[in-house]
Amino acid sequence: MERPKSSEIFKKLNTLIPGGVSSPVRAFHTVGMDPLVAVRGEGPYLFDADGNRFVDFVMSWGPLVLGHAYPKVISAVQKQAENGTSFGVTTEREAELAELVMEFFPSVERVRFVSSGTEAGMSAIRLARGFTKREKIIKFSGCYHGHVDALLVAAGSGAMTLGIPGSAGVPDSVVAGTLTAEFNDVESVQKIFESNRDEIAAVILEPIMGNCGFIPPEGSFLRDVQELAQANGALFIADEVMTGFRVAPGGAQELYSFCPDLTMLGKVIGGGLPVGAFGGRKDIMEHIAPAGEVYQAGTLSGNPLAMAAGIATLQEWRSREVFNRAAGFASSLVQAFQELSESNGIALQASSLGTMFGFFFSDVPVKNFTDANNTNRETFNRFYRAAIDEGLYFAQSPFEAGFVSAAHTDEVLTEVVRALDKVFQKIS
Ligand code: PLP
Repeated sequence: MERPKSSEIFKKLNTLIPGGVSSPVRAFHTVGMDPLVAVRGEGPYLFDADGNRFVDFVMSWGPLVLGHAYPKVISAVQKQAENGTSFGVTTEREAELAELVMEFFPSVERVRFVSSGTEAGMSAIRLARGFTKREKIIKFSGCYHGHVDALLVAAGSGAMTLGIPGSAGVPDSVVAGTLTAEFNDVESVQKIFESNRDEIAAVILEPIMGNCGFIPPEGSFLRDVQELAQANGALFIADEVMTGFRVAPGGAQELYSFCPDLTMLGKVIGGGLPVGAFGGRKDIMEHIAPAGEVYQAGTLSGNPLAMAAGIATLQEWRSREVFNRAAGFASSLVQAFQELSESNGIALQASSLGTMFGFFFSDVPVKNFTDANNTNRETFNRFYRAAIDEGLYFAQSPFEAGFVSAAHTDEVLTEVVRALDKVFQKIS
């Protein structure tokens, strides 16, 4: 596929912005190509600067559950913009979005809006430390909770793709209190609790790993971790920035019936505009300033444009029929992956939950960070380049999840399966 204009724009970007991108996961050099340069999106499609059309399985890394440029979301943002883009004082829209969040997530009794998932993570950790008066936290290898200093330890996503899961510039003293356990291994959590009695403020995890590829929890892992946390006086923080609204309308906590003390949200609640949130038990959340003594703030927090986009998105997403349509696409896509890999003799593990999916080139199941690191990256890279040539845009790393939307219809599926067939034949 020819992309001369995109390459020219990327060359210019490289002279102005480190690596030519505003976030490292947007670079494509690990798959050996120049990045996509987007011009517009429509439903399930992304169009680049050369006029090429791609079926989008990234959807802005998760937020766009209704597809690109969904008319009701666009009109809600336009209407709000005509009345002002930011006020710096409180608005009724925040109450509207808060009520919607609580309808989807009954464990959230109070919520605070921020502008990104990173801020949600940073604030949730500070709140857990302030509330418990303890300093240490437990995270899991391969989970990513935003680029918060204290959480950039064995981090997934771009940090894992680029081989820098512990970033330069993070002082040892800041991560000294971050202890790392293994996903799907409750004993690794127990051991940390045993050797750090009464010192752990919180256990934070992605209930389904989406930043290390797509890795669901096994058996009673989540409930076991929650019980361990609570038995040891630590808070259980579910980072549902990625899984929230996506794996089930009420996130992983609905799917696996657990009840975290705090939940982090992002992506979908902003409907494509910058919003994050953290919320949970009222007695904990009341410690946030100005109600309490844990400081947290933001000039653009609760931004009315972003609230309008989030409200319009969640009002549509309430419909089980809309959710089920998108989820049905994801499971049909995974089935196509399985059939095509098998008929072409390529070892592959693929799965989906709700509207999220993932695949690894591996002949053994992938259960954690180490397994994900052992999958075949060379095959992934060949698959990736062939997929782009056939107009399919997946995340450009095996350590990311895939996302579909309600705009991914049956007709789109037919087009995708035809293209995937060519891709698998090319790489077999
Ligand atoms: N938590 C999870 C699970 C994420 O996937 C991400 C981003 O991908 C974040 C937190 C950070 O969110 P943001 O990129 O909005 O800062």
